[in-house]
Amino acid sequence: MSDTYLELVNSGPAAAVAKKLGLPRPAPLRRTDADAVDQPLTPGPVLVLSDSASTGEADAVAADLLSWDLDVRRDTRLGDHDRWGAVVVVLTGLTHPAQLSEPALTLGSVLRKLAPSGRVVTLSRTAPPALAAPSGDDVDPAPAAARHGVDGFLRSVAKELRAGATGNGLVLADGVEVSSVSVRGGLRFLLSARSAFVDGQLLTVGTDAGTEPADWRRPLTGAVAVVTGAARGIGAEVVRVLARDGAQVLGVDVPAAGEALSAVMNAVGGTALQLDVTADDAADRILDVARSRFGHLDLVVHNAGILRDKLLANMTPEKFEALLAVNIAAPLRMNETFAAPGTLGGQAVAPRIVSLASTSGIAGNRGQTNYAAAKAGIIGMTRALAGPMSRTGGTANAVAPGFIETDMTATVPAVARQIARRTSSLQQGGLPVDVAEAIAFLASPQAGGINGQTLRVCGQMVVGQ
Ligand code: NAD
Repeated sequence: MSDTYLELVNSGPAAAVAKKLGLPRPAPLRRTDADAVDQPLTPGPVLVLSDSASTGEADAVAADLLSWDLDVRRDTRLGDHDRWGAVVVVLTGLTHPAQLSEPALTLGSVLRKLAPSGRVVTLSRTAPPALAAPSGDDVDPAPAAARHGVDGFLRSVAKELRAGATGNGLVLADGVEVSSVSVRGGLRFLLSARSAFVDGQLLTVGTDAGTEPADWRRPLTGAVAVVTGAARGIGAEVVRVLARDGAQVLGVDVPAAGEALSAVMNAVGGTALQLDVTADDAADRILDVARSRFGHLDLVVHNAGILRDKLLANMTPEKFEALLAVNIAAPLRMNETFAAPGTLGGQAVAPRIVSLASTSGIAGNRGQTNYAAAKAGIIGMTRALAGPMSRTGGTANAVAPGFIETDMTATVPAVARQIARRTSSLQQGGLPVDVAEAIAFLASPQAGGINGQTLRVCGQMVVGQ
């Protein structure tokens, strides 16, 4: 499905009219195309800023960026015709909100020179949990305010960016160094074209677990992955991106989608398995095929999903129950097998489970009580799996797509579709590849310190942020 409005406002006379009328002007986003994983990480030089208490950590970040052959600068001078590819703002040492002024205003002074699809990335520290135990240690309010302040700052910066540029943050738990592999992996992802539709998000790096891939361009070499709902849409793209990143892939879909599934899997030299994920023995059948074909299974992507929209007042038991069965009961049942110690993980690759949530599960959505209950359930399931998965040496995470252009969203009424597209900071829907890239990152060895999280891939949609 294509977004005709986006194409129109980026061409000739219609662009001028849209500008004059103050209409939304979504920009084409820089993406990593299949054969061009070697494209530069950023579309220009990278400026590293910090507050005065974080200069040591900013030096370490700058050294890392240099080691990736980026043009790294520590001052704001730039040639007249040059544009910043990215600005990284290191705020890990903040102890009082007042310390934010200097790096914030410096960032403001360079934003007009940010390249199209440029990046702003903050690095900061975790604030205290939402509900500290009343009997726990007291928390000093000023550092807590400073750390939590970055959250509001970053999300607002992201809303001010234009021309496909995005703003995101990595939030480091105390004790996690800026040089730890998941911080470096996260930074690479957020700087790159792979994160095109991730905007206004903060991703927590909880530990220094994870390993640096031998080859950043093919980090999943040696991994075996299963993707459910692989015949079309997001699932088909996940298959393609995981294969591009080096994985061998097993694709699952219902028998009715068998022909499309074969076409998707043949294109990447993968294996097709016709299977309904609601079957009691679904996990065992997947494991049997993966082990007999590849010897092991490392990554599980719970992507299969259905819509059965109805206002609750008109909802039928069939629609409510069928949706819960596919979208949440099936992943829950399969994880009893997949999250058990010794099930996932070969020699080379740590276990990973990545599940599809949705912004509807965060904000709620009219007509989607069943869907939102299931997708919020995915977020809860993912948090609960973090502990058991870390004991297997792995992680469980989720992605929450906003409006993505697929056959599923093609069924959304036209007006609602236009509203969903334009009410994000990037003023457009995402593409299946955008979700697939986020899943591939969370599945990668360099994301081992990110666990129990839900990453939104929604262009900073206004709902439920
Ligand atoms: P889609 O309808 O295009 O594809 C879903 C696939 O899942 C289909 O191939 C379908 O045959 C398969 N499937 C359905 N029931 C199955 C079952 N019981 N067993 C095995 N396979 C089954 O959907 P999509 O838009 O690509 O969405 C993929 C996932 O992303 C879903 O979980 C969806 O809820 C989620 N999501 C999508 C969007 C979006 O905007 N498209 C937004 C948020 C979340």
